[in-house]
Amino acid sequence: MSKPVSNPQTLHWQTLSNDHHLAPFSDYNQLKAKGPRIITKADGVYIWDSEGNKILDGMAGLWCVAVGYGRDELVQAASRQMKELPFYNTFFMTAHPPVLELAKAIAELAPAGMNHVFFTGSGSEGNDTVLRMVRHYWKLKGKPQKKVIIGRINGYHGSTVAGASLGGMVGMHEQGDLPIPGIVHIPQPYWFGEGGDMTPDEFGVWAAEQLEKKILEVGEDNVAAFIAEPIQGAGGVIIPPDTYWPKVKEILARYDILFVADEVICGFGRTGEWFGSDYYDLKPDLMTIAKGLTSGYIPMGGVIVRDTVVEVLNEGGDFNHGFTYSGHPVAAAVGLENIRILREEEIVERVRAETAPYLQKRLRELADHPLVGEVRGVGMLGAIELVKNKQTRERFEGQGVGMICRGHCFDNGLIMRAVGDTMIISPPLVISKVEIDELVDKARKCLDLTADQISDAAIN
Ligand SMILES: *Cc1c(COP(=O)(O)O)cnc(C)c1O
Repeated sequence: MSKPVSNPQTLHWQTLSNDHHLAPFSDYNQLKAKGPRIITKADGVYIWDSEGNKILDGMAGLWCVAVGYGRDELVQAASRQMKELPFYNTFFMTAHPPVLELAKAIAELAPAGMNHVFFTGSGSEGNDTVLRMVRHYWKLKGKPQKKVIIGRINGYHGSTVAGASLGGMVGMHEQGDLPIPGIVHIPQPYWFGEGGDMTPDEFGVWAAEQLEKKILEVGEDNVAAFIAEPIQGAGGVIIPPDTYWPKVKEILARYDILFVADEVICGFGRTGEWFGSDYYDLKPDLMTIAKGLTSGYIPMGGVIVRDTVVEVLNEGGDFNHGFTYSGHPVAAAVGLENIRILREEEIVERVRAETAPYLQKRLRELADHPLVGEVRGVGMLGAIELVKNKQTRERFEGQGVGMICRGHCFDNGLIMRAVGDTMIISPPLVISKVEIDELVDKARKCLDLTADQISDAAIN
């Protein structure tokens, strides 16, 4: 932490962290040296740390707290279900009411022709399920050689072995000998970072054509599926150029392969539509869901599957796959209540019509800042690219400017995440216009502080 700790409890918890906790996605040297920030409570779009600081959570936890913190209805739903039936499995020809009601509620929201849900405990498990399900599908179709799944460099599909392999995060592949065999990657549609001299539209077409190139290279007869996030989240809120998805759809229509949309971030309203696949009209065969499904109040994920795929699976007898907590009744009850809130309070409609346009307008005002090379976003997703040179898109390269900015944000009551030198936001869907003003004003202040610190250190 950059400020000295004043609450003795903070030191106590930081000691526990050092002594006993192995944290996910953390730099262990730095964590040991500085200790974690301890978050103790939350309400609405705000969290509080153990030092008593109130912080606007511009990331909705980890993209998940759609309906905001402190929703007692979700607490009550969990409590009621825990009293009624805290656990039963959905294996071996059993089920329980919450899982069935939730499957129906999801099917009502999902794109036409996608009426079945396989539940998991997380997004990663959802993508592990995808890998096994698409290979099982092709085997049942009499094409067992169709096994290869095409993912994208810098895509994120979770942290299990299959999830991390389907994803294209170099830092993850380096640890644990990934990807596993049968998974290949194509370039991402990241114009700002990789578009070179092409226009965004030209680059979008180029990036889409890499899919066709890869299908031809691997051979259509060997390809099971293509998996992609409608908008890459963890990779840096990468909004594809307008030409990208139409061109990908055109390519997919020419080849007999399944299309998997990883909706773990985009799903349940983040784009202002129920799914990113609605926003871009993608018509996928499978959709991975998690995060916004329960607003993060309790872990749950799943895969929504197209009827035509289900018909084939139904011919296949046993699907030898499942998790103890697939369709966990308490998680299902919370998911159901979360969907009720999203629907009855018309939260997705309000995002689309009112708050997302406002957030996007206000965010783009930051484009005039000397450090900012691009501001982009869709719905309740935004990215701010920090650059050394606005015209050439030249970066600071490995000087940790994104982390400097993130530190200023934390110290000034705002959570923005840094992906390299890309600052990203994904606030709760319930954020109000007044809170959006606060978010953008704080972001500008922190950009100023970052610029000051850079020029003081003369690292540019
Ligand atoms: C977070 C995420 C996952 C993984 O979900 P977990 O619940 O962390 O396993 C998968 N795909 C995308 C797009 C994600 O953002």
